[in-house]
Amino acid sequence: MIKKTNGINNAASLLQKEDSLRNGRNQTNKSSRTSRASKTNRTNKTKMKMEKIIKKVESGQRISAEEGLQLLRDGDLYQLGGLADTIRKRLHPEPHVTYVIDRNINYTDICISACKFCAFYRAPEDERGSVLSFDELGKKIEETQELGGTQILLQGGLHPDKPLEFYEEMLRFIKGYGIHIHGFSPPEVCHFANLSGLSVKEVLIRLRKAGLDSIPGGGAEILSDRVRQETAPRKCSADAWIGVMEEAHNQGMRTTATMMFGHIETFAERLEHLERVRSLQDRTGGFTAFIPWPFQPDNTVYDHLPKTTAFSYLKMLAISRIYLDNIDNIQASWVTQGPKIAQISLFFGANDFGSTMIEENVVAAAGVSFRLSEEEIRRIVREAGFTPRQRTMDYTLVAG
Ligand code: SF4
Repeated sequence: MIKKTNGINNAASLLQKEDSLRNGRNQTNKSSRTSRASKTNRTNKTKMKMEKIIKKVESGQRISAEEGLQLLRDGDLYQLGGLADTIRKRLHPEPHVTYVIDRNINYTDICISACKFCAFYRAPEDERGSVLSFDELGKKIEETQELGGTQILLQGGLHPDKPLEFYEEMLRFIKGYGIHIHGFSPPEVCHFANLSGLSVKEVLIRLRKAGLDSIPGGGAEILSDRVRQETAPRKCSADAWIGVMEEAHNQGMRTTATMMFGHIETFAERLEHLERVRSLQDRTGGFTAFIPWPFQPDNTVYDHLPKTTAFSYLKMLAISRIYLDNIDNIQASWVTQGPKIAQISLFFGANDFGSTMIEENVVAAAGVSFRLSEEEIRRIVREAGFTPRQRTMDYTLVAG
């Protein structure tokens, strides 16, 4: 009896155990079914959202920053490339790929900013720092003109004590050669304003009067104050960068805009950058082109960061083309990506090969030194099925 009772008890407890095990299994099955179901739901929701955004882009509607972010996070590279290529063809029905013959002239590498991503600058106390003489400047301009160059890109470090008159004199000297001066990015303009005690407006009026024609979009990096504070706290804020460009546009100057990505920024901050550029362009229409290029970490404080891959570069390029619906031209960055990826980028939204860069020092200081002659650029463009066309800064085609 006892045995029997024990047997019943044992059986009951076994049944109970089995029951609870079964329940547990059921619960596990149930919860894994629930998590699979919620994962499928999430995937379906993302898919539906993506389809909606893609339809918007295909029908030529503007997308929001949130939608741009979704494309950057979940977009398929080929699909984004296809969309960007469609927009590029709509904006540029002629099969042209343009380029400009110019030279980057860095008038000084002495700089007080010490940006953590910069491999180019020399601190003011560093004896290796230098300022180009007007003689050296003249030689560089003559060489550029001999190669058919139409402009020079004039940029330098934030020198601690050169007065505004020094830059005015430099502009007048260069203008003597009758060449277009694309010079002084917004951080330099802000620096001149700080040193001289003048407003950005007054500085720009004086620089224009001395010969400045247009402004390069350098020094934008990522237009987010969190990123700027962390990477380059002494450089102008995102608002100040936008402010210089807005003032330049209001004074009738055309400018470009850049984005240096692939360092400490988040995807959302990349979209913040695109949004700031797009909304200024809505107000002024002054940007001729947008140039996204990946950060080159070698010889910088961030040399431990991985380099942006071709995949991420092409994706960002395509998103730029899709998002910036009010900017006509997107440039390929052969200087950082090399000729092969630059050629592919012509199918991911880029319609311009940028500059021949007879001379380039800033990216080269970060250990990246692709060089291309005008003839090589023309060959690369032709082989991709396009017609290479030389242009000026404002995208007027050069005859021939
Ligand atoms: S990026 Fe420009 S401002 Fe910054 S340290 Fe280099 S030269 Fe100076």
